[in-house]
Amino acid sequence: MEIGEGIYEINEFDNVSMFLIVGDEKALLVDTGIGIGNIKTFAEKLAGKPVEVFLTHNHRDHVGNAPLFPKVHISRIDYGMGKMIRPLTSRESRRQYIDVTLQKQKGKEYPWKEEDISMFSKEQEPEVILLEDEVEFDLGGRTVTCYLCPGHTPGSMVAVDDRTSYVFSGDCCNKFLGIGVRPIPGMKHASIEESYEAMKHIWNVGIDVKNIYSAHADFRKVGEPLEGYVFETVMEGLKKIVEGNYAAGKKWIQMIDTEVDIAFFEDIEIQFHVENIYGGEKAWT
Ligand SMILES: [Zn+2]
Repeated sequence: MEIGEGIYEINEFDNVSMFLIVGDEKALLVDTGIGIGNIKTFAEKLAGKPVEVFLTHNHRDHVGNAPLFPKVHISRIDYGMGKMIRPLTSRESRRQYIDVTLQKQKGKEYPWKEEDISMFSKEQEPEVILLEDEVEFDLGGRTVTCYLCPGHTPGSMVAVDDRTSYVFSGDCCNKFLGIGVRPIPGMKHASIEESYEAMKHIWNVGIDVKNIYSAHADFRKVGEPLEGYVFETVMEGLKKIVEGNYAAGKKWIQMIDTEVDIAFFEDIEIQFHVENIYGGEKAWT
């Protein structure tokens, strides 16, 4: 679906949305989905020009089809979370994720077949270009800048298009947000403080808050942005957590067998661990 001038939302059968930003010379694909069908061919046809790939973070539903491409870009921190393709993005692991989506969308028909779920050999690892903060993709007549926005994962990044000021926020900004909830072996989570600072930095860049596109079309419809207050409310919510100015609650999360702290700001729920509020040493240094 075209959602702005030369910007397309590609929703992968209710799993995750990818975004294609088309410049005069090339296009940028934001995320590669869980991996059903051939997103490379699809994106290249849609753009009619070469496609570069930017991955918002290293989760299976965002990097599933990455091996289709010869080269991808991802933040250095998130790449450190584990091997890009294995074990997180094995076919079995992605299949599990797809099954959860199918259960949620009971009765809905999807036009894909079992063999459309891509499978890659161990050798099929794309060349990975590691990104630091504020990386520009010059697409010809339009530049997309990618900023670190740690929280959901320690090295999550968002993409901001200079032509429209649209933001492609991956899983960094939504009405339901877990920050450093799930342990990552051998890695430090971003603190709430660090997360807030990053969102404030992006805010100050001058984004279009009425056009924030989260990767999951769960609190928005495909083709429609998140409601205009969400980014600011999440950002201010994080600040309130850092200041201790929130009503605390606890919740047991069965799936990860862990108790988390929760805070609500309007209809936005943020899950976190109290001990992760302050950063000190930043996750990306
Ligand atoms: Zn994620």
